[in-house]
Amino acid sequence: MSARPLAFAGHALDRADPVRSDPARLAELAHAEARLLRLDGLIPRLGDDQRLQWGRLGDANGAEIVFLGLNEGEPLFAAVPTEGDTDPAYTRRETFAALALLPADELALYGGARSLLDWHARHRFCPQCGGATVLAKGGWQRDCTACGAQQFPRTDPVTIMLVEHERRVLLGRNARFPQGSYSALAGFVEPGETIEEAVAREVFEEAGVVVRDVSYIASQPWPFPSQLMIACHAYADDHALRIDPAEIEDARWFTRDEVIEAFEKGAESTSFRAPFAIAVAHHMLRWWLERDDD
Ligand SMILES: [Zn+2]
Repeated sequence: MSARPLAFAGHALDRADPVRSDPARLAELAHAEARLLRLDGLIPRLGDDQRLQWGRLGDANGAEIVFLGLNEGEPLFAAVPTEGDTDPAYTRRETFAALALLPADELALYGGARSLLDWHARHRFCPQCGGATVLAKGGWQRDCTACGAQQFPRTDPVTIMLVEHERRVLLGRNARFPQGSYSALAGFVEPGETIEEAVAREVFEEAGVVVRDVSYIASQPWPFPSQLMIACHAYADDHALRIDPAEIEDARWFTRDEVIEAFEKGAESTSFRAPFAIAVAHHMLRWWLERDDD
């Protein structure tokens, strides 16, 4: 896509899978002086240098500990908070303000850690029998203490798509978006569905548009709580819209000039307000502008 890195992508740690499965090695790495990510619940605590801060594993106060991976051979850990995050991402202003300051590699590290920690905090009981679960494999698994069932950290695929018709692109907004903001349509992939089928279904459900020639652009891990955003492009043969108000508030076709204006003028734009740079939709629109499709 574009040369600019996608937020939350580019996780630079060695995930060191063999270490996760080796309790003796893990115990050796998890000494009291090992580095522990400083968090307030799930909110990153940044230092004066606007980077993630690290404390000591010895200060974890008995919390469950996740092994994040090795950074140039040095093990990094994080503690599972007492509560997961049950509120939607858009309410997390403090977190997003911090994230806007982090360099790309630390954003990726935080995003991965956050998804994993949040999953642990919200999966303390077995979905099979209701028994208590315990962290296993350095935090990349949970085991039920009653029936032995194993659970693995989840990633939920979400398709997000730019639909194009006669050099205009379809964008929508829902009621909680800031005024004037439009973004690419998106939706979870359902069981029994391909990515292409999910794209077609979501666009038809939300905007009443039939699409063809779905192609993949890029993917982005999105840690609120644990989506994998799968960015796609598709064509429509007709510009007629039939908007489902239960799904979105509005959808419109935008010209290239309108998209350019949104990027150039930001909040002053009279066409619409573009998605934030942290969102994959921002990069998809830039990719679309750079793509010469005549
Ligand atoms: Zn169980």
